[in-house]
Amino acid sequence: MGAALCLLSRPRFGACCRVLVRMIGCKKTLVKQKLNDKLGFKWREQMGVPIKTILAFFVLFLLRKLFTQRAAIYDISKFIGERRDFWLVDKAMDRFHGKDGFFVESLADLKAGNQVYPLKALRYTGPGDRRVKLILSGAVHGDEPAGTAALFEFAEQLRKCPAPGLEVLIFPVTSPPAYVQDHRFTELVNRGASHQKRADLNRDFFINQDGYPELKKARQEDRLDEEGRIIHSSQEAPVLMEFLKKEQDKRPFDLHIDLHECSICQAGMIFTNDETQGEMLDAMYPAIKPNPGEHPLPIHWFDGLIPSLKTYKKQLYFIDPIQGKPVFARWSFVELNAPSFTLESPMNRSLEERSTMQLDLVNRAIQQLLNVGSCTKP
Ligand SMILES: [Zn+2]
Repeated sequence: MGAALCLLSRPRFGACCRVLVRMIGCKKTLVKQKLNDKLGFKWREQMGVPIKTILAFFVLFLLRKLFTQRAAIYDISKFIGERRDFWLVDKAMDRFHGKDGFFVESLADLKAGNQVYPLKALRYTGPGDRRVKLILSGAVHGDEPAGTAALFEFAEQLRKCPAPGLEVLIFPVTSPPAYVQDHRFTELVNRGASHQKRADLNRDFFINQDGYPELKKARQEDRLDEEGRIIHSSQEAPVLMEFLKKEQDKRPFDLHIDLHECSICQAGMIFTNDETQGEMLDAMYPAIKPNPGEHPLPIHWFDGLIPSLKTYKKQLYFIDPIQGKPVFARWSFVELNAPSFTLESPMNRSLEERSTMQLDLVNRAIQQLLNVGSCTKP
């Protein structure tokens, strides 16, 4: 009624509105008065303080929720944005340290130009008896960021929902110097016979066995020192090998998944050197299921460029026999005796889709190993 009067008498709009406000105020006072009479206490004196206190608590609760959510998400988009900030990743790892079963392990300081970047692992130990031990690595190639996002999401998932029986070493960024520079390759420390300016970390995991057949294949025989030991081209490979060997001595590994990305793939791919892992491949397969008509690689690769690859079911898994390249996952298979897989997510999809695919694959593998759902509350 008041509003209609205001609209009808536009020249006296201001005055009418003042009347309206006064009317509403009167009504409020009347309601308060009635409440006072009914409840038998003074509204302002007896309810004023508690309401203020309740309001203050409510505001505090909202603020806490807001900041807790921020801390939980770790703003993955910032890690993966156009400007690669390694220190955000490093800080995020440190925030996990000492809580919810997480512990940060520092492996080494790696040089890149004038800077030094720490190589760290995030160790998670779930409640209860330890049953399976995993290695999860991402960003071995510095320009493949989905693994970093997926592994932080995975760590976050463990924080919210502990996984009994699980011990896992997580490397969100396995090659900080490559990640910082958004480059596939890392800093080269030994050129050997090659003329490369940078080192491919995922071709530097030579197997420590007589004859070094991979070295001969790669024509890098001069990478052996006087005592016949391998001279690595990267800083990361020898550090990781030594660390993981020591870990292996404490307790053997049950699985290694190395998360990579593929710029020429239409669909996801899984590589393995272990021909006995059919069940695990079948368990992981739904994570990379391609859209109809999509093929993981250009078809001529199968009989042309990669003659050593064998396909397993529907040409979506690749069994790479012993003469394969000196990649991280293959080293884990041979030297740690752990079933190991390299996942390639297709870079033609969005970062979110790729990291979701990688997280899904990791969860499926763990479900297969532990025979439990992905989220088991203690
Ligand atoms: Zn890669």
